[in-house]
Amino acid sequence: MALMPGVTRRLIPRNFTRGGQTAVHGVLLHIMEGTLDGTDSWFRNPDSKASSHFGVGRDGRVFQWVDTDDRSWHASGANATWLSIEHEGRGGDALTPPQLAATARVIRWMHETEGVKLQLADTPAERGIGWHGMGGKAWGSHPDCPGNPIKAQRPAIIAAARGTEETDMNLTDAVKLPAWVPTTWPKDEGLQDGKITVNTALGSTYGHARRSAENSAQLISDVQALRAAVADLAAAVAELSAQGRAGG
Ligand SMILES: [Zn+2]
Repeated sequence: MALMPGVTRRLIPRNFTRGGQTAVHGVLLHIMEGTLDGTDSWFRNPDSKASSHFGVGRDGRVFQWVDTDDRSWHASGANATWLSIEHEGRGGDALTPPQLAATARVIRWMHETEGVKLQLADTPAERGIGWHGMGGKAWGSHPDCPGNPIKAQRPAIIAAARGTEETDMNLTDAVKLPAWVPTTWPKDEGLQDGKITVNTALGSTYGHARRSAENSAQLISDVQALRAAVADLAAAVAELSAQGRAGG
């Protein structure tokens, strides 16, 4: 059984083949030509004979309709070997930023759980992140699903999915450190003049911590600058109102 944690489970009772996911060549992106909630009720309708593993709303909501062990009915000839994600919107729409981020999280999970490759697929012979229309007639003749803007967003989706991967990997490495690793990193080997010199998972973890510290420092200095600007503005307002009183 493969259900993604942290998403809304809306498993449907019909319109899929139990245990039918015989292989995973990748995932196909689709466009709903409608809303997330409308598609949810359509997939529950016995007449639709259609389904998808996942659906992603323009607000970033994620529904899982079908377990990835089971075959969703999304692209006829591709159903046994390709997973599916439907997107709220109309053909020609681009994914919204929360929608893109949510799709990247689903694909990241598919990469970990089902071995989906984080690369572009543009023909049925390739493996990775593909799109419905690439299969032509055998996949139901939907050349415009999901449309050019979403196809063009796939590199950004892959980058976002990889970004999550990098962070998670380093966190995992940090907790898995064996007992013999010193708790304080030797200064002459690991950190020189505040720069990371050891190119290992550990060094990379230090790099992440350092960037995060730098970001925090930047945020604090931005807030301080903002506070100073507000104080200046308040002083200017006080001065103007004093002048106003003096003049009147
Ligand atoms: Zn489609």
